[in-house]
Amino acid sequence: MFYTMKLNVTVFVMKQFCFLLLVFGALQFSLKASAEKNQSHGTMEKQHTSNPYYSRTDTSKLNLPDAEWKRVLSPEVYATARQKKTELSFTGKFWDYTGKGTYYCAACGNALFRSDAKFASTCGWPSFFEVVRKGSVTYLPDRSFGMDRTEVLCGRCGAHLGHLFDDGPPPTGKRFCMNSVVLDFVADRRGSKKGE
Ligand code: FE
Repeated sequence: MFYTMKLNVTVFVMKQFCFLLLVFGALQFSLKASAEKNQSHGTMEKQHTSNPYYSRTDTSKLNLPDAEWKRVLSPEVYATARQKKTELSFTGKFWDYTGKGTYYCAACGNALFRSDAKFASTCGWPSFFEVVRKGSVTYLPDRSFGMDRTEVLCGRCGAHLGHLFDDGPPPTGKRFCMNSVVLDFVADRRGSKKGE
């Protein structure tokens, strides 16, 4: 009788211990996931807070020396925005992204594209058929690598964004082939129109 009671108590304590272990494990997993999410968000904010030229409302032109861009941009954004590096196809964060919102220049915050103008391109880079407003980008002829292409640059800061091709869908027939790394995406708020 005494031993049976002792066994029952032992089983009860072990069950409680296992339950506590499970709860503790779940809590740790949840805290870790939350910390990682905050860290990722913090990295993006850190990049913007270290870049005093970044603004989603100021449309005044920026004409800064390269050394200043190197100081305020992350190495990845700098490599594409100022050194015209092209990211590998199918590797960028936005090539197949379908969220509703607005895309901004990652170097200066200038509004570039609406998600409504994004289309599923097979090229592996985020592609749009029109810009958000006239003057949001500028163009330059690009004859590098033995090709005859049109380079697309940010209309505010002059960052290299990608290239423009004439094989896009209606209504424009244009394809703005962009590098994800120089784009920032801001989702529309619920119930808002065009990112208001
Ligand atoms: Fe820009």
